[in-house]
Amino acid sequence: MIVGERKPFDEIKAKVSDYRKVLVLGCGTCVAVCMAGGEKEVELLASQLRLASRMDKKEIEFAEHTIVRQCDREYTEPILEKLGEYDAVLSLACGAGVQLVSDVVEDVAVLPALNTRFIGSTREEGVWIERCRSCGDCVLGDTGGICPLTICPKGLVNGPCGGTNDGKCEVTSEKDCAWTTIYNRLDKQGKLDNIRRIFSPIKYSAQTTPGLQVNEAYLKVETEGTDGQ
Ligand code: SF4
Ligand code: SF4
Repeated sequence: MIVGERKPFDEIKAKVSDYRKVLVLGCGTCVAVCMAGGEKEVELLASQLRLASRMDKKEIEFAEHTIVRQCDREYTEPILEKLGEYDAVLSLACGAGVQLVSDVVEDVAVLPALNTRFIGSTREEGVWIERCRSCGDCVLGDTGGICPLTICPKGLVNGPCGGTNDGKCEVTSEKDCAWTTIYNRLDKQGKLDNIRRIFSPIKYSAQTTPGLQVNEAYLKVETEGTDGQ
């Protein structure tokens, strides 16, 4: 999932201060799981903003709404009319959600209330850890399901650097060296031979932005459907 965190309150408050009618818009998917942008966070932020604007003697109306996913037109287009009722939308989605909402309602300012951090997973309640840098050329099949690009601070894909010490990382000694972890995992899986594999240089060509993913089979069905009409 995409992990995000709320921006500092003063930054958010300053950004909305030029507007009179603001919709605080939550996203019910990734950022709801990491407790940054779901319905409860919308309620809390809207209440804080109402209180702050009252104390600052400003007349700003804050409304609340949460949709399933802001990064998907299927959920944003149905609320187009509602979005148009406001001077600004304060989005508690990741950067993709903010941009998609802005594409849908171009004449309304869409402001981010979150900082998008990374693609990660839940480590324990209230703690999320980065897992993937979306490199476009996944090596997990050879590294025991542990991503060296993400877990190693240097992103080394061909074994450890010279600084690994007693299985710990030289960058932060509290952390296990990614390659010790990979070695131990491969050992458990009876795949230690994988460690000898030399990976070719990272394909930075797969990381050009903006990335685009096309499902040809889906497009073919769509085209055939159109031709048949
Ligand atoms: S190798 Fe790592 S960064 Fe690349 S796709 Fe796989 S998990 Fe993501
Ligand atoms: S000690 Fe291991 S995890 Fe740390 S930078 Fe070197 S190879 Fe990467």
